[in-house]
Amino acid sequence: MRLKIVQAGDPVLRGEARELSISEIRSRPVQELIERMRDTMRDAPGVGLAAPQIGEPLQLAVIEDREEYLRGADTAWVAERERSAVPFHVIINPRLTVVDAEPLEFFEGCLSVGGFTALVPRARAVRVECRNEQADRVVIDAHGWYARILQHEIDHLHGRLYVDRMEPRSFMTTANHARHWREQTTREVRAALGLRTRIWRPGRAPAER
Ligand code: ZN
Repeated sequence: MRLKIVQAGDPVLRGEARELSISEIRSRPVQELIERMRDTMRDAPGVGLAAPQIGEPLQLAVIEDREEYLRGADTAWVAERERSAVPFHVIINPRLTVVDAEPLEFFEGCLSVGGFTALVPRARAVRVECRNEQADRVVIDAHGWYARILQHEIDHLHGRLYVDRMEPRSFMTTANHARHWREQTTREVRAALGLRTRIWRPGRAPAER
């Protein structure tokens, strides 16, 4: 069964989601919710879906980056994003730590900001400590696109959307992105939009020059 994905402006997307107890995680309603969120994410299709996006203020998200989403994509495009398939899994009550703060900047979208995309800088590598759908403790070390997905989904659990972190001048419809920008590198897009080159100095906040 497919669930309705709420759109930007719904208060649930701006609230703090609450943690789930171990017995709640193992309960029938939460197990069914996970199944429905998985089906809804695949149907969209998307690579992640957080509970607030279907109207439930719970610290729970499903993630899956399928092999078929990468099929046909340009090898260099995939390599630049450090993107590879991620099997279906669930993160519950996650705690995120940045392991490599070097910002990687690419176009990113959200099922709750339907039809739009923008450049969003994200930390290159993160560690996530959470529980899985059996309530077991799990530690995830991720880099590249997978790290981006984790940062995006965990932001949802704290009332944040990518528009809070995006480069505002790069905000555009997905149709115009496909028409005008998809083939360009981030550097080319930034130059064309009149944005300065992002300079990263280790140990310091991302600066522009
Ligand atoms: Zn999202």
